[in-house]
Amino acid sequence: MNNKLSERIINVTPSATLEMAAKARELRASGKNIIGLSLGEPDFNTPDYIKEAAIQAIKDGYNSYTPVDGYVELKDAIITKFKRDNDLTYGPSQIVVSTGAKQALYNIAQVVLNKGDEVVLPCPYWVSYSDIVKLADGVPVEVATSIDSDFKMTPQQLEAAITPKTKMLWYSSPCNPSGSIYSKEELRALADVLKKYPQIIVVSDEIYEHINYGVTAHASMAAFEDMFDRTVTVNGVAKAFAMTGWRIGYIGAPAYIARACNKLQGQVTSGANCIAQRAVITALLEPPSRITYMVDEFKKRRKLILELLNDIDGFKCNEPEGAFYVYPDITAFFGKTLNGTTINNASDFSMYLLETANVATVTGDAFGNGNCIRISYAAAEKELREAVSRIKGVL
Ligand code: PMP
Ligand code: GLU
Repeated sequence: MNNKLSERIINVTPSATLEMAAKARELRASGKNIIGLSLGEPDFNTPDYIKEAAIQAIKDGYNSYTPVDGYVELKDAIITKFKRDNDLTYGPSQIVVSTGAKQALYNIAQVVLNKGDEVVLPCPYWVSYSDIVKLADGVPVEVATSIDSDFKMTPQQLEAAITPKTKMLWYSSPCNPSGSIYSKEELRALADVLKKYPQIIVVSDEIYEHINYGVTAHASMAAFEDMFDRTVTVNGVAKAFAMTGWRIGYIGAPAYIARACNKLQGQVTSGANCIAQRAVITALLEPPSRITYMVDEFKKRRKLILELLNDIDGFKCNEPEGAFYVYPDITAFFGKTLNGTTINNASDFSMYLLETANVATVTGDAFGNGNCIRISYAAAEKELREAVSRIKGVL
């Protein structure tokens, strides 16, 4: 261990999604034919109407520092979007634009948590949640779910996880990695539990909102009147608009939290990138119907990958209702020896697929559920077919 580094960073687990993507890149550079299904990144190009807005912003001379919490026009566009899509009425003092939803989440943890505060994380959760909590000296409290409950936490489980130290409930819906979506009624039942615990703040990560396959309508926790003042709604453009590298995310929050995020960001990164912010104004103000062609394509791929995976003995899949991941339970392989490799856990399984089938996936352990692996189907149909055929071959 390098004792010149802080305990804080030594104790952080590297992001498994980014690490696997880097490993796949490295192997590819060394000449291996790797199919990367590890990263949650649309394979589409950013739509032209958004690119053109960015080009126009460059021509118009948008090159100075931006307001720390975002351009006024972008905050107005976010307010319009929240009203239009989520029936949420935020004012400008409640919006903060950040460098990706990831920074938005990091800000929230930093400004809300004190040492030892507990954060309820229904499992599986997105990789970075637990480390973002730990970086703020908080304590993740994992609530296990399984494929049998469609990976959703029940109100009884929430109640049982709450202690006097609980400060936050934090989840994504649609969920990365399971694709599960909490219905309005299910969120209401969780909110009913929270009525008794006014100290608990909810972080509702809705970045996959638009990638919804039409079974369960998207619902926002903040849309319940009694939850509005204690919920932070997180969103961003990376997924639905194919803008992962543009790095824009945002929150709608109680004003005191938004102010605190603004203060933190002002000392850490300043305002988010000027050109990307201008482009996002266009992305958000255009009707969401302009991006449904991508959702339609993901839907076709979801059907395909489920068909292909369900055809492999030992894969047990739920039917994801949103996002672009499948999260199959692969416990049937535990304890088996495949081509000389013994599979003891999901990490062994994922590594085995990488090394023998040249297919990159992510171990379920990284998401707080070690019975599964995550496969991203934000890849071309041809690649998905080839990947699953290779997987089948080595199993
Ligand atoms: N939340 C979830 C659930 C995600 O999957 C991601 C993936 N990037 C993020 C937040 C972070 O998004 P961004 O790329 O905007 O930082
Ligand atoms: N959110 C994506 C994923 O889960 C992108 C990578 C990351 O930021 O973790 O794969």
